[in-house]
Amino acid sequence: MINPLSPETLIQLADQYGTPLYVYHAEKIKDQYQRLKTAFGKTDAVFFYACKALTNINILRYIRNTGANVDCSSINEVRLALHAGFPPARILYTSNGIAFGEIEEAKQLGVIINIDSLSNLEKFGKKFGRDYPIGIRLRPNILAGGNMKISTGHDKSKFGIPVDQIAIILDVVRKYNMLIRDLHIHTGSEIEDADVFVKGIDILFEITHHFPDLEFIDLGGGFKVASKPGEKETDICLLAEKVGAGFAKHPYKNGKPLQIWFEPGKFLVSEAGFFLTRVNVLKETNAADFVSVDSGFNHLIRPMFYDAYHQIENISNPGAPLKNYAVVGNICETDTFAWDRSLNEVREGDYIVFRNAGAYGFEMSSNFNSRFKPAEVIVMEGKAHLIRKRDVFEDLLRNQVEVI
Ligand SMILES: *Cc1c(COP(=O)(O)O)cnc(C)c1O
Repeated sequence: MINPLSPETLIQLADQYGTPLYVYHAEKIKDQYQRLKTAFGKTDAVFFYACKALTNINILRYIRNTGANVDCSSINEVRLALHAGFPPARILYTSNGIAFGEIEEAKQLGVIINIDSLSNLEKFGKKFGRDYPIGIRLRPNILAGGNMKISTGHDKSKFGIPVDQIAIILDVVRKYNMLIRDLHIHTGSEIEDADVFVKGIDILFEITHHFPDLEFIDLGGGFKVASKPGEKETDICLLAEKVGAGFAKHPYKNGKPLQIWFEPGKFLVSEAGFFLTRVNVLKETNAADFVSVDSGFNHLIRPMFYDAYHQIENISNPGAPLKNYAVVGNICETDTFAWDRSLNEVREGDYIVFRNAGAYGFEMSSNFNSRFKPAEVIVMEGKAHLIRKRDVFEDLLRNQVEVI
């Protein structure tokens, strides 16, 4: 395991590039990928980085160089992946509720496609028949993931074609003689329990015999990382053991198991990311001592959006006594990062770091309150590189058409 970036390094970067600032530790990403590769060493498994977690082009290129493939959630992510140099055969487009035109475009670009609705399956079959292999995204009707907002495979979820509609799926597939190369499920995010994946496998293997052209089973992403000290992540070695055994139980072509695909997003980039902010104002009240930093949910929406926990540290005053604070932002809207959080005594001007900020951090940021989006820096082989400039005022007016 590599050492995380030290507080001294983070302070230096905050001084040099200003705050708010996202910092990514490249080697940590590689390390996480290697951990997966090692855990699944005995299994025929392939990993597609779910790039909606973080799409900076340098991150995509770095991940391409590690050997991982990429999973996209929109045609623009597909274009970014191509721009980053991924060959089409290493790009997967797992669609969800998208216009058929985008699927046609993805086919034109030659990437791998998972279709998630009967409507688009029918359109694809009608137009292309057996000409182009595809995968089917199924909804396995299992409840999994950290909380309802990040759960995607349950029986009220919009994602995938419900597995109970298998008869209709088969009608469409047979009518157009379609080439179904993979079955896909993605049940949610922050799944700690390896048995959830085993349950998914059992459900899929009840129907695989209907699909003679299958080559892969895609189990999606959702591996959990530890967000607090002492918290557990998904035990990937146990996962590899259980999933490997699950696949071995169901030999497929020529007695060989199907290849296993995964789409980890958070697992690869979450812990590599640090979000650096600076304290604007300290406000002591009878409810709480508020620490207002130079950011808000416009830059890191996860706490407000899905009650995500981020470890927060005052790196400017280590060793000072611990006090309880409410860490909040500076935008005009309630934007609490953390309530009742213990930090080394905070002074105005101190740097406050949010850990596990690599996934769904910058990627979900906005210009709300007409504030600038943060800059991004990557630290690679001990050297820092700016990989996205902070917005400037002109960015706020870009694309606006001034007619009045
Ligand atoms: C978001 C998403 C993932 C990644 O989820 P993580 O929790 O970040 O691992 C994987 N597959 C699909 C289809 C997704 O939508």
